[in-house]
Amino acid sequence: MSKGKHKAKTQEAKHETQEEKAQGKDYEKIGLKAGLEIHQQLNTHKLFCDCPSELRDDKPDVIRERYQHAVAGEEGKIDIAAEYEQERKRKFIYEAYSDTTCLIELDEEPPHELNEDALKIAIQISLLLNAKILPTTQVMRKTVVDGSNTSGFQRTLLIAQDGYIETQEGKVGITSIALEEDAARIISKEKNQVTYRLDRLGIPLIEITTEPEIRNPEQAKEVAFQLGEILRACNVKRGIGTIRQDVNVSIKSGTRIEIKGVQDLRLMSKIIENEIERQQKTKKLEPEVRKVLETGKTEFLRPLPGKARMYPETDLPLIHITRELINEVKSKLPKLRQEHRDELEKLGINKEIAQQIVKENQLALFNELLKTKANAGLIAKTITLTTKNIKAHYKVSTENLKVGDYKQVLEAFQQNKITKDAIEYILTDIAKGMKPEKAITSYKALSKTEIENTIKSILKNNPQIKNNSKALMGAAMQKLKGKADGKIIAEIVMGL
Ligand SMILES: [Zn+2]
Repeated sequence: MSKGKHKAKTQEAKHETQEEKAQGKDYEKIGLKAGLEIHQQLNTHKLFCDCPSELRDDKPDVIRERYQHAVAGEEGKIDIAAEYEQERKRKFIYEAYSDTTCLIELDEEPPHELNEDALKIAIQISLLLNAKILPTTQVMRKTVVDGSNTSGFQRTLLIAQDGYIETQEGKVGITSIALEEDAARIISKEKNQVTYRLDRLGIPLIEITTEPEIRNPEQAKEVAFQLGEILRACNVKRGIGTIRQDVNVSIKSGTRIEIKGVQDLRLMSKIIENEIERQQKTKKLEPEVRKVLETGKTEFLRPLPGKARMYPETDLPLIHITRELINEVKSKLPKLRQEHRDELEKLGINKEIAQQIVKENQLALFNELLKTKANAGLIAKTITLTTKNIKAHYKVSTENLKVGDYKQVLEAFQQNKITKDAIEYILTDIAKGMKPEKAITSYKALSKTEIENTIKSILKNNPQIKNNSKALMGAAMQKLKGKADGKIIAEIVMGL
């Protein structure tokens, strides 16, 4: 026991010194320059065909086998990363579904027109990032050599550049915002053979690249957090695997290293710390791509791809982003979570509850319930605290409570049919399956006379508590639970 305690203590001490070390670090002297690259899946159908953006776990009914060959870029150079891959001579197996993937994912048919919904979301994000949208843009092919694209390239479309976000330590530039196709997902990997599934190939991705203007690990975390807030305000996919964050790190004495796959924002500063230390310790450094491990450490993935990777997609026309389209998107620009929180606070809702409503996606429910003319604070409490109480105290799931149920209960309160206390009891009964009308009636607020009569009948049956107002109050509260305001009960008890 004491041994374990001791161990925990030393770990804590170690953790502290690590943090202290980080705080004491002079990042300016180290010459830290970091930039982020974020890939987020959009919540629409695929980018160049009408197939759904849906991952499947059932058995695929289409299987294709292929070998990949490196293709020279525009300048006739074969990319160093492509060369590296070709030397490995691997076989790629592609799995697909005849009903939710098509010949485009298999690269047996040219791409269809660009998905307009995805384009609109990309414009939306560009506007929220204060970026300049390109009036004309072209789909480009970006060499991909690991077999994750059946065509050997990924289609990418630059939408905007030269934006920025504000951080506590000043502006961080946004280099570019691009719309891309997601790659196929890996199912299994052996020495000379990789199996991919094409359900993910072609899902629209937004790629946001920041300038390498991030000067310390904390700022990197803040930038990633803010980008996440902007993305979540738009129609993007949620959950594990729908967002991928890469960070590139360089220091004065080191080189540019790209670190792929930062899943956990909380690890962001640690990863940068580790990379600074690694670069400081290593004598000869080549630019490379590294992969994040669960520990926050990284391992070599492949050489950093050179410039020969991009060339125009000849199967698709130029894309014009008109003023009209930009204005249309601008007129429906979504609010960020911070703006929603501020608005709720302006209605008199406390910060914590406002945060909960936004975080738990209950804004629509809240706005709908405002129509009952009930007090904003009461509505906010009802959909957060009261609902949580029902789950915690009565062990009743509140998932089947509908907007209409909340509405009926709040309206009954507005019309003085029920007391404030009754709201929780009634919602509990409805959550258990009772009809709202019945639940409301069973907690009908009593008139003052009815309350007086109830208290008198309690006294008649329990004459021994006549001079014990505390006991009488307790008994009355029990009997009148939810049907009378505690203040009125107290007034009557004291007046007897
Ligand atoms: Zn398709």
